[in-house]
Amino acid sequence: MDSFEENLAKIKSIGLAYPKNRVAKYFDKDYFNSLYASSQHHLMNILKTGIEYPESEVGVYVLNAADYDHFSPLLDPVIRDYHHYPKDISIVQWHNWESENWNMQNIASEVGESSVRIRCSRNVEGFPMPAGMTKKQRIDFENLMIAVVHQLTEQKDLEGDYYSLTPGSPYEMPEGIFQTLVNEHIMFQDMSADKYMQRSGIGKDWPTGRGVYISKNRDIIIWVNEEDHLRIISMGKGKETQDIFTKLKKTIDEVESLLTHSFSHSTRYGYASSCPSNLGTGMRASIHMKLPIITQNGRNLELIKQIGKGLGLDIRGEKGEHSEVNRDGIVDVSPQTRLGTTEKEVVEHLYQGIATLYAIENSKILQSEYKRKYKEHTLY
Ligand code: ADP
Ligand code: MG
Repeated sequence: MDSFEENLAKIKSIGLAYPKNRVAKYFDKDYFNSLYASSQHHLMNILKTGIEYPESEVGVYVLNAADYDHFSPLLDPVIRDYHHYPKDISIVQWHNWESENWNMQNIASEVGESSVRIRCSRNVEGFPMPAGMTKKQRIDFENLMIAVVHQLTEQKDLEGDYYSLTPGSPYEMPEGIFQTLVNEHIMFQDMSADKYMQRSGIGKDWPTGRGVYISKNRDIIIWVNEEDHLRIISMGKGKETQDIFTKLKKTIDEVESLLTHSFSHSTRYGYASSCPSNLGTGMRASIHMKLPIITQNGRNLELIKQIGKGLGLDIRGEKGEHSEVNRDGIVDVSPQTRLGTTEKEVVEHLYQGIATLYAIENSKILQSEYKRKYKEHTLY
């Protein structure tokens, strides 16, 4: 890493060229200079990806859950900006897991058949966050989880298998199935190939300590030591969204009760996460939806991204974050806000957002209205 002076100069120049980079936007030199040298060093580690990859829109990965409080003068504005929280309103994270009949079949039968995935990130007290973990701590955490899933599998509807990526583990994933599971949207990507994961330290010592629990009917998946200690995932079809949601809640509760440690949580920011974008509920609820008209068969993502932004929706490619849209025009749509909103509201937001996108996809009048509105951003 460069010297502090070089980094400070870089941050300043990024701010001019990349207005979306929140590290540069909120970095305050006086605040930085007021910190002890050891804290300055720690903070620079947290901000590494934001500085080295100026195209980052957040650019922060904490090393410990307590970093959110320690570096609050810088991180709180970043968090508020990402989650659209005005600075004069205090953040209090409530949780509400009441479910409703979010049957996406009611929007259209093809939406009812589309793939829905709801995941929550969780990190566990007593361990640094993944960017700050040693190899031994990753192995220790994986072993803790192996004991948990041993008990989880005794429950009929959660029965499954654990596959470890740790070389030599008795649970080691058989050769050749890793990529198949990635392609099936079950397994996370190779973290050694992801520059953000590598540079932040989250992908260090790959693949040691990483693994996945997959239920027999593949509706519950638990990622171990990916971007967060845990990503607990529930999957199914759009018409099953209510069941996907309730099963996720049940699984999270089971895991927490079987763990000897609690999940890191604060009343202000909810569940701690490596990246500030996942604070609060830690929930990303997404659907893989086919939108060939708005995306011009996957060739042009600009219009859908603009429309999504206006609706508070994040649009990704079918293979996840930073991936491209394929030729079928299938996109991954999810509500952007996870903090200061409840779990129930996240799924409600997804449902409403999908209903709107579906209406736009199927109406020439709405399409031309949106094209006009976002004309400067599209190639139409
Ligand atoms: P996250 O980090 O929020 O868990 P990513 O964008 O990294 O999600 O994607 C992780 C994996 O989940 C990718 O394989 C992606 O294709 C898959 N995925 C995301 N949403 C869905 C969905 N609705 N249906 C099926 N797979 C999905
Ligand atoms: Mg991800």
